[in-house]
Amino acid sequence: MMRLATWVAFAIAIACGPLKPADASDGPGHLSLDGVARAFDDAALRVNNAPATELARWTDPIYLALADDAGMAPIAPAAEAAVRALAAIAGVPVTRVAWRDRRVNFRIQPGQGDRAGKSPCRSTVDWTESGRMVRAEIYVNLANAERITRCINHETMHGFGFRSHAHAALSVLSYTHAGQAELTAVDTILIETLYDRRLKPGMPAETAAPLACSIIAEKIGATAAAATLCPGRGATAKRGLAAFGGPRSLADSPPTLPALQPGYRGDGL
Ligand SMILES: [Zn+2]
Repeated sequence: MMRLATWVAFAIAIACGPLKPADASDGPGHLSLDGVARAFDDAALRVNNAPATELARWTDPIYLALADDAGMAPIAPAAEAAVRALAAIAGVPVTRVAWRDRRVNFRIQPGQGDRAGKSPCRSTVDWTESGRMVRAEIYVNLANAERITRCINHETMHGFGFRSHAHAALSVLSYTHAGQAELTAVDTILIETLYDRRLKPGMPAETAAPLACSIIAEKIGATAAAATLCPGRGATAKRGLAAFGGPRSLADSPPTLPALQPGYRGDGL
């Protein structure tokens, strides 16, 4: 069975001030295991606002197509570069193909947005029950020029298997850090971890969470903290699964307010 999930990345139409410190702060020596592991759980082991049943990532090559609509030409190189940058970390081959190529499984195209973000950047992805990503569709709000870099990087992260957001971390997937346009050190660790060969596509979230935590601990030199912080992570995910398990078909609409995660900024709603 194929599952369809849809995200809406709100283009928050306010000036972005200095970034607030986060518990998964960016920068050498300042990454906390708790913060980065939480970012992984939030972004990779959730589907929008519900716990994910399983880990999902690309196992097949990506065949990338970019729409040739008016307005896409100036951003096409950056969009392709964003996909290739993540793919290089993930170890996924990328081939650029024509829009109507039958192999295409990753497309980037204009959305229907406006400057106020009323119809903002968004993406949809499909994956199988065995956790194999099979398609990503990214819609870029070309009208909101100053946020296109963030839009591309944010949605491309979704397109690689991060089906939710890492609001508490200094990540391009955070709405708390809504001014973060480029990938951060946390984002690099997130994608390295998702595509680490010790994690498997389709792995149950309750198995993946503690394992991902231990992988992150290795990466940031926090193996001593792992013994305390990692083992319990799966239990929380499993409790959530009891309520949310099973195939989900999610509407293409903003998350409802009661389901928002801590740190969410609803300015763009
Ligand atoms: Zn998003």
